[in-house]
Amino acid sequence: MTENYYPISYLNDFIFCPLSIYFHQLYGNMSERLYQNEDQMGGKAVHETIDTHRYSNHKSILQGISICSRKYGLCGKIDLFDVDKGILTERKKKITEIYDGYIFQLYAQYFCLTEEGFDIRQLRFYSYSDNKIYPIPLPEETPDMVKKFEKTIESLFEFDPTSFVQTNAKKCGRCIYSPLCDRSLADDE
Ligand code: SF4
Repeated sequence: MTENYYPISYLNDFIFCPLSIYFHQLYGNMSERLYQNEDQMGGKAVHETIDTHRYSNHKSILQGISICSRKYGLCGKIDLFDVDKGILTERKKKITEIYDGYIFQLYAQYFCLTEEGFDIRQLRFYSYSDNKIYPIPLPEETPDMVKKFEKTIESLFEFDPTSFVQTNAKKCGRCIYSPLCDRSLADDE
């Protein structure tokens, strides 16, 4: 599909506000230190466990490995994949709602792994703080959702920040980049 690659993690940001991915690129590490709230830091701690491979040494569990999809132009890391059982899990600190952006991140991991020939039979989220599992249908069971996923990626690659106009002040009010953003409507809330 493309020579360019975007991080899988941008999908959720892009759905929240397309412009936020530019601030993510510009101020990523700094804004994490300055603005990240407690929930986000907790989520990060979960993923640091994954990145440093402390979760499990079991050979059939792949964790924190780098992945790429040539078809969709996405790259990133998986959370946990049980190769024997075919279960791909993404852990989050606390899940109160399954957003499309969450599902798209899991789809992206799914497509990266299936491009490499892995057999994935189950997708799921695990909410770390309340110990809940949320099964997600496989992409082949939800073609409409896959269309939405593909449309989002198309929009991500075509996005022109110069012509973007924000209309949702509530989003700006919740956005960590609001103090840095010249399109913020946070004061209009
Ligand atoms: S402040 Fe508003 S317009 Fe700017 S990145 Fe955040 S949500 Fe988007």
